[in-house]
Amino acid sequence: MKYITVVKNDPESKKIEEKIKNSLELEYDPKDPDYVIAIGGDGTIIKASHRYPNAILFGVHTGHLGFYANYTIDDVDELINDIKNNTYECHNIDLLSCELKTKNKTILLGNALNEITIITPLKTLTLDVFIDNEFFETFKGTGLCISTPFGSTAYNKSLNGAVIDTSLSAIQVTEIAAINSNAYRTLASPLVLSSNREIELKRKNYSEKMFVTIDHESKEIDNYVSIIIKLSDNKIKMACHNQEDHLKRIRRTFLK
Ligand code: NAD
Repeated sequence: MKYITVVKNDPESKKIEEKIKNSLELEYDPKDPDYVIAIGGDGTIIKASHRYPNAILFGVHTGHLGFYANYTIDDVDELINDIKNNTYECHNIDLLSCELKTKNKTILLGNALNEITIITPLKTLTLDVFIDNEFFETFKGTGLCISTPFGSTAYNKSLNGAVIDTSLSAIQVTEIAAINSNAYRTLASPLVLSSNREIELKRKNYSEKMFVTIDHESKEIDNYVSIIIKLSDNKIKMACHNQEDHLKRIRRTFLK
C-alpha cells in the first residue's frame, strides 16, 4: 500500500506530517497512492480530494475540528494504527459532476465535494434553468450555487440555503443576488432536489462570459451552450474515526 500527504503550510500541520512519515512504514507515492492523509482545515481536505479522488482520504484537522476531518491532533497515533491495522471505517461521500456543453461536445469540468457555482461577479448573468430537461425558470443576477449536503454548511449557508443532513442524498440550488422584477421572476428561495435530478443551465446571452467554480477551483468560460450538473458516479472514500453525528458538528460549529 502507498500513501501521500497534503499539508497546510503551517508549523503545526508540518510537525504532524513528520510524525506520520516517521511512523508509517509504507511507500510514499504521489502518483498512485492508496491513502491520502490531509492535514490542515476543510480547505486542505477538499484540495486533497481533488488531487487524489481515488485514494482513501484521512483528514486531520489542526484547527478546531471542521466538517470533513475525522481525526484531531490528539488522534494522530490512532490514525497511524488505523492505517497499519486496517481498523478504519470508510464512508462514501457524494460528489456533483459539472459538465460543459459546447456546440460540438460535452466535457467534464470536474467534480465538487461542496458546491459548483456559475457566477459573473461584475455583470449580470442570464440563464435558462432546466431540471430533468423541463424548463423551470429564467435566472438573471450574479449567479447560482448548486451544493451537496456536505457543502450545505459552506457557501450555500452564506446564501441562506438550508443546512441538509448529510445522511440524505440531495442537490440544493441557491440564488446569488437574483434580480426579481416584473421582467424577471425566479423562485427566490433555496430549492432542494432529489439527487437523481439533472440541472442544465443554458446560456441566454452570448456576449456574457462567466466563471464556473468547483469548490476552490475556478475557470473562466466563454464558449458554452450550457452547464450540466448532476450526481457524479464517483464518490470520495472518507476514513472515519469516532464518527461524530452531523447535527453535533453543526451545533459545535455554528451554535456554541
Ligand atoms: P478556505 O479553506 O478558506 O475555506 C473557506 C471557509 O469555508 C473555511 O472557513 C472552511 O472551513 C469553510 N468550509 C469549507 N467547506 C465547508 C463545509 N463543507 N462546511 C462548513 N464550512 C466549510 O477556502 P477554500 O479552500 O478556497 O474553500 C473553498 C470553499 O470556500 C468553497 O467550497 C466554498 O464553500 C467556500 N466559499 C464560501 C464563500 C462564502 O461563504 N461567502 C464564498 C466563496 C467560497
